[in-house]
Amino acid sequence: MFCLLTLSSIACSTSPRMSAGEGESKLQQIQKPANLVASAEELSAALDRVSPGDTILLANGTWVDTELKINANGTASDTIYIIAEENGQVFFEGQSNINIGGSYLHVEGLVFRNGYTATSSVITFQNDKSTPCNHCRVTECVIDNYNPSERFDADYWVEIYGKHNRFDHNYLVGKRNRGVTLAVRLKNVGDRENFHRIDHNYFGYNPVLGSNGGETLRIGTSHYSLSNSNTIVEDNYFERCNGELEIISSKSCQNTFENNTFYECQGTLTMRHGNETLVQNNYFIGNKKSNTGGIRIINETQTVRHNYLEGLTGYRFRGALVVMNGVPNSPLNRYFQVKDSDISHNLVVDCDYVQLCAGSDEERSSTPINTTFMNNVISNDRKDEVFTIYDDVSGISFSNNALSQNIKTPDYQGKPIGGFQQQDIKVTRKSGLAQAVGHPDVGPQSNKPMPTADNTGVSWYPRKNYQIEFNKGKVITVLPGENTIQKAIDMAASGDILSLEPGVYHQTRSLSLQKTLTIRGATGSSFPVITFERSPFIALENGGSLSMDGLHISGKKSDDDSGNSVISTSRYAMIDNYKLMVKNCKVTDLDVNHSFNFLKVYKNTFADSIHLENTEFNNVSGHILNLDKEIEATGIYNVENVVVKNCQFKDIGGSAIHLYRGGRDESTFGPMIWLSDSKFENVGKGKRNKNQSAIDLSGVQHAELSNLQIRDSEKMNLHLIVGDPVIKLKDIEFKNAVLISNSEAYQKTNITFEN
Ligand code: CA
Repeated sequence: MFCLLTLSSIACSTSPRMSAGEGESKLQQIQKPANLVASAEELSAALDRVSPGDTILLANGTWVDTELKINANGTASDTIYIIAEENGQVFFEGQSNINIGGSYLHVEGLVFRNGYTATSSVITFQNDKSTPCNHCRVTECVIDNYNPSERFDADYWVEIYGKHNRFDHNYLVGKRNRGVTLAVRLKNVGDRENFHRIDHNYFGYNPVLGSNGGETLRIGTSHYSLSNSNTIVEDNYFERCNGELEIISSKSCQNTFENNTFYECQGTLTMRHGNETLVQNNYFIGNKKSNTGGIRIINETQTVRHNYLEGLTGYRFRGALVVMNGVPNSPLNRYFQVKDSDISHNLVVDCDYVQLCAGSDEERSSTPINTTFMNNVISNDRKDEVFTIYDDVSGISFSNNALSQNIKTPDYQGKPIGGFQQQDIKVTRKSGLAQAVGHPDVGPQSNKPMPTADNTGVSWYPRKNYQIEFNKGKVITVLPGENTIQKAIDMAASGDILSLEPGVYHQTRSLSLQKTLTIRGATGSSFPVITFERSPFIALENGGSLSMDGLHISGKKSDDDSGNSVISTSRYAMIDNYKLMVKNCKVTDLDVNHSFNFLKVYKNTFADSIHLENTEFNNVSGHILNLDKEIEATGIYNVENVVVKNCQFKDIGGSAIHLYRGGRDESTFGPMIWLSDSKFENVGKGKRNKNQSAIDLSGVQHAELSNLQIRDSEKMNLHLIVGDPVIKLKDIEFKNAVLISNSEAYQKTNITFEN
């Protein structure tokens, strides 16, 4: 029978216990009358009396600042259940966490939200190192945006210790601070050869961290990487897990990754350390989103077969298939040579890059050996240069691979490598997925359903949209006057548009924004003029993103103080990334005093994107975009994407654009900049401009600059640091201005200088 799970129904449950297996629900499992507890103390008392086979119910409601500690032992035939009274009705908020030690325990139905853990992780599969958890299961739990306010305070959401544990059907969404979402730990002997199963989870939106330490899954660490972990990761759905280069960092031996879906994830499943990994029947679907990647192979005896890779755009370490070079006699924490590995029967459709001997440099000089690359199908009709081969691939045996007619396979000396048959590859679709006609044994060969948002995680928790886009809400008409914008912001919902009628808008107080909002001039009218007294006009706080369109912003009425700004980030660390878009605007007279910036950012804040288009900046005493607050050389930076197009910068005392990323870390993609069709005149020459530049790009990883005029301005400085940045300069005219670069390793076309 099937009882609703209420207190009265527990006693009525007469369903026979089913063996612990897949698909059963707790409704069928409960046999004995349950104990209902409503606090950590009551749980502790209930656990003192608990016997194998018992069920303890955690009472419906909100548990605030509650640290649950479970230490109990069921048996192989009689699990102890510690479960929500009703799924979706038990919330842990504030500084709550759960710590599970013992054996044969089943934890279900907990929701963590509106807070963060004060300990190292939200769910820990051990009490302490002498009390791990073995044969335990955590299922149907939710961790939703449970983050501290400091983005670089590190924690985990889940740490799995012990052996034979299962973590399944959980919904984990919105990890935004530093630290892996789920880590399998191998610290103690009892944590190795663990045979954990991580399955049917939904790992949701994990935004760009802008630093190393944003992996969604990590199994082991370099220190224990030669130990067997034997962890199975299967049937999970990863959606927009964009934290860093590694979606998954496998750092131990004998792990299996099978039948997982990676949907629009920026990064790769990386076999970072450890050997004998099996990666098969996985789906990587990029939908042409930037930096989406596939599988990155390092170390020995790795098997990568029957995977599906489509629409992935990532380059270098985030290609669709990446085989790395190793370091001779590598220390544990660097790169072991690829040996004895097999890459076969993978279907690669419309992906931009396959990278072989990636990372080849003076240190990483050991090319792959005794490795096969066979029976793969690589289809891409619109791109010829899919393969990038950085070094000697004679240690890889290529055979029976099918390629689209147009794809070339030049080795590092430009000679085509054998083992590829160029042919007209016909792609058909079944349930939306590509199939290569005539190659039925290529791509996933599994009877299991492909993981999706619908067949993973929990069914009872509402799915929210964590990426509110501009201009998706209602239009609110705003009339000119004093503080009318403020009143409209107070009324607006995220995604709304404030439409300003022509006239003057004066703001007497600094505004703070915690929603996604567009402020635009009413269509077809002349520019509304915005003036403001206090600095900044708008501060972007957590949750805030701003688009301005068709406005004239003037600093003429601003207080006569130094260091004003139009827009700023929070002055405190931000956990949410922000977006700033400025289109069709005029920004003038930011000069009542010195160092008046257009955008002022603070440390530990991060922009997903800053987009300036068709906008004039005139008469500014400070900087326009000065993103240089992460001064330590640790690979942290302030913005991922910068687009500046069709803009004019005139009489700017500070820099127009200054991006800074220090250090040689290779875990991230940004900063990236696209700067085009713009003019710079008398920029950067203010005596307080410490940057001494009009444009300064330090440590950027991708820069495309084209059709620019730079006149009577301070220098353009390119300081290239990280590995292999992509830098392209084209059609740039310098007049009374210079270009300084520490490296010539970039493409330049038609750069002219005139005095
Ligand atoms: Ca990493």
